[in-house]
Amino acid sequence: MAIPPRERDDLVVARVLPASELLQRLARIDGRGYKAYKSIAGEYDFGDFRLIIDHVQGDPYAAPTSVRAVLDPEVAGFPGKLYANRSRRIALEDYLNRAFLRAISRFVKGHRGSGKSGMVAILPCGQEILERTSVRVSGGRVEFRFVVGLPARGRTVLGREAQVMFSEEIPKVVKAAGCYRNLDTAAVERHVATAEDQDALREMLPGMGLVAFIGDGSILPRRSGVSDEPMNRDRAVPFRSPPSLRVRVCLPNRGEVTGMGIPFGVTLIVGGGYHGKSTLLRALERGVYNHIPGDGRELVCTLAETVKIRAEDGRRVEKVDITPFIQNLPQGQDTTCFSTEEASGSTSQAANIMEALEMGAKVLCLDEDTSATNFMIRDVRMQHLVAKEKEPITPFIDKVRQLVTEKGVSVILVMGGSGDYFDVADTVIMMDEYVPYDVTQQAREVAERFRTGRKEEGGGRFGRVTPRIPLPHSIDARRGSKVKITPRTEERLQFGREEIQLAYVEQLVDVAQTRAIGDMIHLAQARYFDGRKTMAEALTQLMRDIDRHGLDMIAPPGRIRGDYARPRIFELAAAVNRLRTLKVRQLPRRDS
Ligand code: ADP
Ligand code: MG
Repeated sequence: MAIPPRERDDLVVARVLPASELLQRLARIDGRGYKAYKSIAGEYDFGDFRLIIDHVQGDPYAAPTSVRAVLDPEVAGFPGKLYANRSRRIALEDYLNRAFLRAISRFVKGHRGSGKSGMVAILPCGQEILERTSVRVSGGRVEFRFVVGLPARGRTVLGREAQVMFSEEIPKVVKAAGCYRNLDTAAVERHVATAEDQDALREMLPGMGLVAFIGDGSILPRRSGVSDEPMNRDRAVPFRSPPSLRVRVCLPNRGEVTGMGIPFGVTLIVGGGYHGKSTLLRALERGVYNHIPGDGRELVCTLAETVKIRAEDGRRVEKVDITPFIQNLPQGQDTTCFSTEEASGSTSQAANIMEALEMGAKVLCLDEDTSATNFMIRDVRMQHLVAKEKEPITPFIDKVRQLVTEKGVSVILVMGGSGDYFDVADTVIMMDEYVPYDVTQQAREVAERFRTGRKEEGGGRFGRVTPRIPLPHSIDARRGSKVKITPRTEERLQFGREEIQLAYVEQLVDVAQTRAIGDMIHLAQARYFDGRKTMAEALTQLMRDIDRHGLDMIAPPGRIRGDYARPRIFELAAAVNRLRTLKVRQLPRRDS
């Protein structure tokens, strides 16, 4: 693939030069204009590792210089068992990313002039273990991809400062993080083993008839609304399964553990306000990811196809068939092919469900806190006052059983406000002072004693999930003549002229995922959306190709990027669905 001309000269990896050559070049350009730094692009032999300067920044305030450091297997010295399978390799890479971050704060002075001068940075990491492009371990070879702010005062090259960075700081960081013998080897093993256990646990769930597992002793609450770290152990009440829901699993590394299994079907989480319902659900939502040791959620796993559903009024909806939930809108608006620039609470929630089903969701998580009330319930009094014909919404309560029986989709629902759901639940868990109790039997008895008399309004069948075909011409990453894809934060993605709002896509956990999503949409537009494949087909194929070729394949041609984290297909599709220019065609009905 052609490399854009502007980038070509930065990419010359002609031959490996001795490290001394880099230091001499830095001495030579000391005091010159910033552009002189362009001459240091290339590959250098540092003895223990090779350093590759890929792309040199244009000025001290621009995006910093991309650099790679590669350690050969003999130098890195990692035992093969640490990267023996996919789970382990990703966890090892994740650990090394964190080790590199620690080494930066230990060895890098930081500020050395104007703008980003003196900085060394690699992807920041949260509580989740994610597949990233910042560290690659392959056949024992270790590659770090990081950025360096080449030092300058104003626009004048500070060659001596750069020499210190390249001859002292960076080698220390690379060796501290990249050599097995310099690491806390027990911690590496624990990291890798924990992740492998979580993947194994997640895969065991279907065989046990479960959609989720929460280990006894887990710490679910977080430190605060803005911190994803665990609440202090002296305040947090550790999770303890009710005996009737307790299951025993045997993990490859940790061996036997016990915890609460959430069975396939409809599970209701009830309990008084502030008793820990939403905290439990949030832990389950995040259970699609592996967590680092010490997080408290290392034994919280949900099926990989678990999707959080919420109301999201204001979002755009493009030709979604929402008839299972909404019909007969005022002014005869069509709900088999529903589009709006600004959805209401209930229509957005319906669209979010239908889009998740379209992508193959197997578990839906809903919280009353973030749901539209009229989408969730319609009680007997309302049924009498407002005739069915006058109410476009078929409430979720009347569709949830059909989801289970017809579509094989389970639902985990936090509902402290309406006991009507007792009639449709398979399992009822009550949170009481942060401790769960199995109250399924009591809820059944209550439902028997106090019959609601409500009429079911769900009809005979759930209805069709209509696949949609994205039209590639409706997606354009350009602004003016240039491709412009920039994650503003994890929740806002600049894509061409559009800004995609992802704040309510709650299982997106890292801005590096948002960055990857931007480039994945761009790639999908060029190579996967062809006007024939459905959204699910096209994005599944893209994901499979990433499995085969690695996450690097999503980078723009000729670029090597260390700042992606892999998103799930659901968040990728959610971003496509929120792109305001998106046009789709519904797949014509073949059945009936
Ligand atoms: P609910 O949804 O039932 O109203 P939340 O899940 O929002 O309750 O929890 C209310 C508060 O209790 C939150 O501040 C949360 O951090 C805290 N909390 C939740 N679970 C625990 C726990 N296991 N131990 C200690 N505090 C908890
Ligand atoms: Mg709540």
